[in-house]
Amino acid sequence: MVKSRTRPKELLLDIFASLPQGQHISAQELRDRIIGQGGEVSLSTIYRALERLSEQGEIRSIMSARGQLWEAVSGEEHHDHLICTKCGLTIEFHDDLLSGFGQTVAERKGYIYQESRFDIFGFCKDCKANLDSNTVSQVLQSLDNVSTLLDEGKRVVDAGVRSLMSDKDRSVAASIERARKLLQQSVDECERALDALEEEI
Ligand SMILES: [Zn+2]
Ligand SMILES: [Zn+2]
Repeated sequence: MVKSRTRPKELLLDIFASLPQGQHISAQELRDRIIGQGGEVSLSTIYRALERLSEQGEIRSIMSARGQLWEAVSGEEHHDHLICTKCGLTIEFHDDLLSGFGQTVAERKGYIYQESRFDIFGFCKDCKANLDSNTVSQVLQSLDNVSTLLDEGKRVVDAGVRSLMSDKDRSVAASIERARKLLQQSVDECERALDALEEEI
């Protein structure tokens, strides 16, 4: 049982020390943990303690799809973050290219380089796959609609051609016959596109 007189800063440091490497945690999650241990603390107290710990260089924050997250700064190797803005998946990585980039920019602007940190935002592999298949389904749906409309148009023109033929108005009949052929080609083209897309997914 955590006694409520324990200072929030120490409670937080304990929690950060217990987090597995690479785990990032929000202020709300920190509060939930303290309450789960029988402690009592307000969110604003947590925020104040986080600010102080961050100023002291004990922790640092990253922005993510879940809002602001925090992690302990230990002796661990410098790392940057890849953050999925859809599901919040956050991956830590190290790439000399990025630290070299930070140094180059600092020096060009006349700064003495100390360190740099990059939070790179995007869609993770799973979220990208979901987006891709959503797009394909949308295109399929549109093509399906176009194909139905074209089919309907063709039937109307067919009926027109039949009635004109009986009226013996050959020249109008010929141009409508041409329109009918173009419609048929469009329907065929749509069906080919649909078949190709359906094979893809
Ligand atoms: Zn990290
Ligand atoms: Zn994702």
